[in-house]
Amino acid sequence: MATRTSFEESTQRMGSPDRQPMVSASTREASASLAHHVVIVGAGFAGLALAQALGSTPLRVTVIDRRNYHLFQALLYQVATAVLSPGEIAQPIRRIVGRHKNITVLLGEVDGINPERKEVSVNGEALTYDTLVLATGATHGYFGHSEWARFAPGLKTLEDARRIRAQILMAFEKAEMERDPAERERLMTFAIIGGGPTGVEMASAIAELARQALAQDFRHIDPTKARILLIEAAPRILGPFPKDLSANAERALKRLGVTLLRGKPVEDVNGRGVTVGGEFIPCSTVVWAAGVAASPAGQWLHAGTDRAGRAAVAPDLSVPGLDNVYVLGDVALATGEDGKPLPGLAQVAHQQGRYLGKALPARILRNETPPPFRFNNRGNLAVVGRNSAVVHWDSFKLKGFGAWLLWGIAHVYLLVGFHNRFLVTMRWLWTYLTFQRGARLIAEDVTRDLSKDTSTSRKTGAAANEPGASRGLDAPRVHG
Ligand SMILES: Cc1cc2nc3c(=O)[nH]c(=O)nc-3n(C[C@H](O)[C@H](O)[C@H](O)COP(=O)(O)OP(=O)(O)OC[C@H]3O[C@@H](n4cnc5c(N)ncnc54)[C@H](O)[C@@H]3O)c2cc1C
Repeated sequence: MATRTSFEESTQRMGSPDRQPMVSASTREASASLAHHVVIVGAGFAGLALAQALGSTPLRVTVIDRRNYHLFQALLYQVATAVLSPGEIAQPIRRIVGRHKNITVLLGEVDGINPERKEVSVNGEALTYDTLVLATGATHGYFGHSEWARFAPGLKTLEDARRIRAQILMAFEKAEMERDPAERERLMTFAIIGGGPTGVEMASAIAELARQALAQDFRHIDPTKARILLIEAAPRILGPFPKDLSANAERALKRLGVTLLRGKPVEDVNGRGVTVGGEFIPCSTVVWAAGVAASPAGQWLHAGTDRAGRAAVAPDLSVPGLDNVYVLGDVALATGEDGKPLPGLAQVAHQQGRYLGKALPARILRNETPPPFRFNNRGNLAVVGRNSAVVHWDSFKLKGFGAWLLWGIAHVYLLVGFHNRFLVTMRWLWTYLTFQRGARLIAEDVTRDLSKDTSTSRKTGAAANEPGASRGLDAPRVHG
């Protein structure tokens, strides 16, 4: 474990009485709180909701994240398809929690924990905690085919979104200069792997980019002829939605000119294209939207994990066998009332953060035993291009324009910060009225040619997007 340094002292100083706000808590609560340091790793939906809830308590809180911003991942696909700019879906963590003087924010990467010594290692330095909350989220999972990652990037970070955007736009630029018709066709073929909400949203947004925003801009190619493939191993897309909504989404995709390849697993991906159901399809851009793997928090804890690496937690989100350690959000394996694992969704993470924001003060300050966490499902949404979406909530189903409007309102509401809400609303309005995309810059270096690389090993056995495997990213989108 790392050694303790002045860095630890500085977080103590920041939480010391002279830096504390005037609090209305009782003397007993205040003395308990000064002895008690809550460390939250990850300022995503779960960690941030928890931090905001603890901001009004007298506890000393440290939030650690390797990025200095909170990211609204649900709109990443719009950055990847040039609708929005990165800054419009991210917000500095300090700005969000800065008004709470009991919260210290550290920009750093946690690389391990020592539960016996109650320490986390941040950038190689030790920081002690009284209560530790891990909310480090998830990343892409390639189902044992990590060699596909460089050809089929997933969409999880702003860097991913910007790189995919550059790759898509660059494909059209290269096609404009390409003389070989077969290579031009390859450049203008885009494959999205995974028919969950992310895949559906990406496919429809690329189709609209090609058929509307870019339609008039080239002289040697016709962008409206671009081929967009949505590949799903299961018999239908949006699997967890009711069949009629999934059929409605399929029709909307077909209207946009998206080709659906259903019931066919991807067998290989390389720099020249994808192999699906035994057939090789040349394409220049492949986007992975088929699976997720939890961050390594479960390994740090040596706790029980599932196949995706999520750490098993008790009903109160604590880790069995460890003292004062909790796991939330995408990295937690928590079960619902039906005994099934809760999906990796923003509303689950957010509700867990808010729950622990009440449960921790009750436990630490008032010595109470809080009730277990209960997930309150707020409905599933997926958007399929302009004017079309599907919404499912218990027995309530909505599709078409009404669903699309609801999707838009929900997403603007869930964005953090008035500034971003305003900017995104204006941007959408402009895009809606003009059919244009405002963020079409190629600022990343995507000139490296992967097309000569056909070297991926053709592993047999478990297909990458076997039916039912596309959970996580591809689970229905739920907001809360
Ligand atoms: C493209 C995409 C679209 C999505 N769309 C929707 C949607 O429409 N609706 C919906 O409900 N859900 C959606 N989701 C899922 C949703 O975003 C996640 O369920 C949610 O973000 C999980 O929250 P979290 O707090 O667990 O993790 P995250 O929000 O991923 O946050 C984890 C945080 O931990 C930090 N971190 C990770 N490791 C470390 C470390 N070692 N040290 C320090 N910091 C670390 C990260 O920087 C990050 O800030 C989508 C996800 C993606 C990728």
